Amino acid sequence: MSASTNGKRPAPADFPPPVDSPKEFVKRGLDGEDERIDVGVAIVGGGTAGLACANRLLQLLADDEALLERLGEVPVAVLEKAKTCGGHNLSGAVMRPAALQSLFPDMSREEWRSEGFAFGEVTKEAVYMLPTSKTKLRIPPPPPFKNHGNEVVSVSALARFQQRVAEEAGAYILTETAATQLIVEDGRVAGVRSGDKGRGKEGEPLGNFEPGTDIKAQATVLAEGCWGHLTGAAIREFDLAAGREPQVWELGVKEVWKVPKPLDRLIHTIGPWPLKLSSKYGQIGGTWIYPMKDEKTGEDLVSIGFVIDLEYADATTSAHDLLQQFKLHPLVKGILAGGERVAWGAKALPGGGYWSVPKLSMPGAVLVGDSAGLVDTVALKGVHHSILSGKLAAEAIYRGLKNGESSFASYEQAIEESQTGRELYEVRNTRQPFQRGFIQGGPLVNLAIATKGKLPPGRLRWHRNDAKPMFIGKTKDRYPKPDGKYTFDKLSSVFITGNATRDDAPNHIRVQKHVPREIAETWRWMCPAGVYEIPEDAPESGPVDVIVNYTNCVQCGAITAKGGRLTTPEGGDGPLYQIT
Ligand SMILES: Cc1cc2nc3c(=O)[nH]c(=O)nc-3n(C[C@H](O)[C@H](O)[C@H](O)COP(=O)(O)OP(=O)(O)OC[C@H]3O[C@@H](n4cnc5c(N)ncnc54)[C@H](O)[C@@H]3O)c2cc1C
Ligand code: SF4
Repeated sequence: MSASTNGKRPAPADFPPPVDSPKEFVKRGLDGEDERIDVGVAIVGGGTAGLACANRLLQLLADDEALLERLGEVPVAVLEKAKTCGGHNLSGAVMRPAALQSLFPDMSREEWRSEGFAFGEVTKEAVYMLPTSKTKLRIPPPPPFKNHGNEVVSVSALARFQQRVAEEAGAYILTETAATQLIVEDGRVAGVRSGDKGRGKEGEPLGNFEPGTDIKAQATVLAEGCWGHLTGAAIREFDLAAGREPQVWELGVKEVWKVPKPLDRLIHTIGPWPLKLSSKYGQIGGTWIYPMKDEKTGEDLVSIGFVIDLEYADATTSAHDLLQQFKLHPLVKGILAGGERVAWGAKALPGGGYWSVPKLSMPGAVLVGDSAGLVDTVALKGVHHSILSGKLAAEAIYRGLKNGESSFASYEQAIEESQTGRELYEVRNTRQPFQRGFIQGGPLVNLAIATKGKLPPGRLRWHRNDAKPMFIGKTKDRYPKPDGKYTFDKLSSVFITGNATRDDAPNHIRVQKHVPREIAETWRWMCPAGVYEIPEDAPESGPVDVIVNYTNCVQCGAITAKGGRLTTPEGGDGPLYQIT
């Protein structure tokens, strides 16, 4: 579509990114034997899901010499684009413990804590409504918010731990390696191609240029997190989303604070403040504050974050600035005052739940974790689903390979019958009513929670986030001015992530660069890393040019939901999260 909209409110979907997925992201056929690397199982993504798959596969292979030998010199390879596993992982995170306990049955929760990825069991909790910027109303925790007995963790630290266990068991972990193409041969996934390194701004090879390599695999696991690059290509190639609801997304911005006194409870707030109540704004979101005790240093920390559905219509909605605003509420000030911010980060998550989960297997490959959309956003829970799905995928792949098969379809059934299948089914219709707004949708949401999914009946529909017409509203007028001590701007926040993207790296963000101001403002405010800029002399209305400062990108993935596309950057680029 042209950048003019003839007076209609523009939607991001009217300005699709310049991407030709089948051509760019799918490679037809493998390179010859001398030019490629052959592995047994290739896992794309070293987050909790991909690493749980590696951990479980290696446990099974430890007792199966014959299959281990058949898988060759590299039985299990994990490709991770961050500098180290954990570098690109971020979550709240309060975790239901059972999946991790079943993955590592010999480890106690005390040992999780002394390993430095777990920070204590939830023993007390509180849920508040926030009518205004000064007031709060404590309410009994609705069932999805009950967290008693769960564990507060850092997924970044958990992934580093899982990486170590996988390496000790014989996995080949290729960090700083992005998988950029899915290799399809004879109608099945035959592996992936790793990205080139050392290209300049225009894609030209620099002095340190290293070309990518085909990695042939007997089984491929797509564990890329929130609807990744190859996952999208696979879904299109094998029509995995046929008959499903579209995926929808949420974006969370998180900070970790060192605090002077321990927080004795886990806190959630469910608005409406600081969001606008009117359905015109389409804003639905909430916050968390989780206590963390670092057993190694003895420090008292808290994880605090703001998460918002990317369904909103006011282009000036900014999860980062809403978090800064939230920190000014007396409830929060009482917890953080006198403390120090030690980490910041941002990440999107899939929010469609049960009806949006695509078909989970295709010839030669499976989808796990957030790549598969296995998140319950009513309870804000995905860590245990990612671990369980990685484990179940490993078991299905192990069975398949043992029988010489390239179909791992038994994994789909295993998910459906698992705790993950049951939990997602129970909340299958719980979030959709919020697409009508907080007030109109609220009663139906409560009904779905109270009846454990029995009502409303049937299958409630989602509409795509990028189909929402945008307008330039007033949400921005209430954002605080950053003081650099308690409230922060986006760029100083990106700085503390350890973001290491080269200034002369090629652009990995695909967006149209001449779009109506409403769309440009949407990207500018939404991006937690301040990537999109509108020139100061741009016209107040009508089409404007967008400047894309892609080296600031923290790869949160939100742009993919609102009209653009995050593609894989060069391996090693992006943040280096430690405790998010
Ligand atoms: C703000 C926020 C708060 C949350 N809070 C909670 C909570 O409190 N409790 C809870 O249970 N869940 C929570 N979740 C959900 C939970 O964090 C996720 O469901 C879970 O972490 C997903 O794990 P994953 O391994 O599937 O994906 P990820 O953790 O995203 O891992 C994917 C990995 O793949 C890598 N990768 C991607 N593409 C490629 C490629 N092409 N090549 C190489 N590497 C690639 C990435 O760098 C990344 O390391 C939250 C999520 C968010 C965003
Ligand atoms: S540019 Fe990067 S950080 Fe900004 S919204 Fe897009 S993916 Fe997220």
